[in-house]
Amino acid sequence: MEPLLAGAFANASSLHGMGVDAGRAVQEARVAIAEVLDVRAEELVFTSGGTEADNLAVLGVARHARRPANVVCSAIEHAAVWETCQGLSEEGVELRVLPVDRNGVVSVQDLSRLVDSETVLVSVMQANNELGTLQPVAALGSWLRANAPRARFHVDAVQGILRAPLDIHDAGIDLLSVSAHKLYGPKGVGLLWVRSGVHVRPLLYGGDQQRGLRPGTENVPGIVGLATALRRGAALRGEVNARVERLRDAFETEVLRRLPDTVVNGRAAVRVPGISSLSFPGCTAEVLLHHIGAEGVAAASGSACHARRKEQSHVLQAIGVPSDHGTLRFSLGRSTTEEDIFAAVAALEKAVPAVRRLGRGQP
Ligand code: PLP
Repeated sequence: MEPLLAGAFANASSLHGMGVDAGRAVQEARVAIAEVLDVRAEELVFTSGGTEADNLAVLGVARHARRPANVVCSAIEHAAVWETCQGLSEEGVELRVLPVDRNGVVSVQDLSRLVDSETVLVSVMQANNELGTLQPVAALGSWLRANAPRARFHVDAVQGILRAPLDIHDAGIDLLSVSAHKLYGPKGVGLLWVRSGVHVRPLLYGGDQQRGLRPGTENVPGIVGLATALRRGAALRGEVNARVERLRDAFETEVLRRLPDTVVNGRAAVRVPGISSLSFPGCTAEVLLHHIGAEGVAAASGSACHARRKEQSHVLQAIGVPSDHGTLRFSLGRSTTEEDIFAAVAALEKAVPAVRRLGRGQP
């Protein structure tokens, strides 16, 4: 990205030499990404990130659909899908919510009860950002293909891509969202893959870039960063996923050994390796975060997008986590070490009893 930020800063749509170079950089990135995702280069629409990609998928398909129309999304979608679908219901498109089980997983059976001939879009994420649970997207997609040909299938793959196997074509997916910063790429860039033949209306107007589907000058360094991150991530995925999963399992085993009343959310489901959602009965998540933060451990309560909201997230509500359970999400990645894991366990072992005492008004 550096040369594109510092020197070759031309507009990729300009016709002069530098512009042509920038345009070539975008095209090369497009081809590289298409190869990793196993799609056609011209089917990729670059966006400002996962949120815009999700909005473009949901609104771009459903907003202009012939009425009556309904959309189906899971009860644990990221806010970029969840709140967008809720907004659609104010525009005359009915929202049907696909429930999840205690582990945060949807079922084909429930989907079959919600979908009808007026369903224009089904949006189910590949992996949940708070729990790490993987959804049976291939089974959902093949059911939809056989039973609901009018319905388009969108998958938010922001958390799942490269962390779990996904064959976009086998799974019958029509639209797929990706964000660079979940792959060690830059923040503020992502993409929506739109299968050829799927009709999407733009959210923005004003230019011919990206076939008018996402007008505006392309973020050339960001797009090149996204391509590099995806390519590198794809090369490393086998080794990284196996190592991170081992660390995650060791982390959870050790927390359960030292704090046996901890609940590991989604434990019985298939999960991406790098997310561990832990509930601690009798603790307030925010207070717990401060305590472990003081020991140098960084975790999250809920999703970063809603980090300032006090109430329990819709995801934790959907899987039935009691409101007096403080829930923290721990993320593990390429650079996480065994020492990090044991430092986090030690911090929790100290913090959890202290926070419980505080909650009971004891010093
Ligand atoms: N979808 C999921 C599942 C996410 O986890 C996130 C971000 O955390 C997003 C969408 C939004 O992506 P971005 O931050 O690139 O807008």
